[in-house]
Amino acid sequence: MNNFNKRIDLHTHSKYSDGSFTPKEVVRMAKEAGLSAIALTDHDTHAGIKEAKEEAEKLGIHFIPGVELSTKFKEGSFAKTDIHILCLNFDLQNEKFNKNLEKIREDRHNINLKIIEAFKAEGIELKYEEILEKAGVGVVMKVHFVEVLIDKGYASSHEEAFKRFFSGPIPTNIVSRVLEPRECIEIIKNSGGLSFLAHPFRYKMDTGALIDELTSLGIDGVEVIYPTHSEEDTEFLMQKAKENNLMMTGGSDFHGASRERITLGCVNVPYSFIEDYFL
Ligand SMILES: [Zn+2]
Ligand SMILES: [Zn+2]
Repeated sequence: MNNFNKRIDLHTHSKYSDGSFTPKEVVRMAKEAGLSAIALTDHDTHAGIKEAKEEAEKLGIHFIPGVELSTKFKEGSFAKTDIHILCLNFDLQNEKFNKNLEKIREDRHNINLKIIEAFKAEGIELKYEEILEKAGVGVVMKVHFVEVLIDKGYASSHEEAFKRFFSGPIPTNIVSRVLEPRECIEIIKNSGGLSFLAHPFRYKMDTGALIDELTSLGIDGVEVIYPTHSEEDTEFLMQKAKENNLMMTGGSDFHGASRERITLGCVNVPYSFIEDYFL
């Protein structure tokens, strides 16, 4: 197959954060979907990378280590906005990077306790142990709360539970407050990785201005291809990347059960994206 026909997926999640499959399964599914390269980008952890990499080597599919980092602007025109930054192809052993991942996860733990309190105030008793059990090896995230709520009969689907509880009475703001985008970009650079703004249209902000701001902070690129993007969205982002001299990435943001309609490689991400920066 020539490189023009090859497709890749650079945004996926496993059980180590809020996905429903093991890293090994994700890589196998990528192979079955006919993808030539895949990045595993779990939230705030790289615990699944080793397993995924080994499987990818076995199956002969190009693997790129990744993490999706939770950050928040503290001041300026985007103050209080939570931003996800995808980090690709970094050094897993980098001490500063790993210390910061730990800090983010600690912060998540504190926020989880607050969410349990918020549910209590709504008359719903949730035990942290139940949530931890659902998360298993993974970083505890909203989806694990949602699964416990479904088990307890408070909702019949992920979609219903997210809508009912996390866009109403329970604070949705569970993303880390520890790292600012500026620090996050710096830590990624320092670890030899590349930083990309994930799903740029999900923040309900002036997307162009947000990309300009992150460009000034030294971000390497932007996720131009994403399942919810319209053709115009993608075109806008590609144009913006060109103007700001940014690299481009793309992926499905595959999770499994919590987003049933999203499959691996469901968006058409060209192989040329990684040829530009990894090969
Ligand atoms: Zn994200
Ligand atoms: Zn994601």
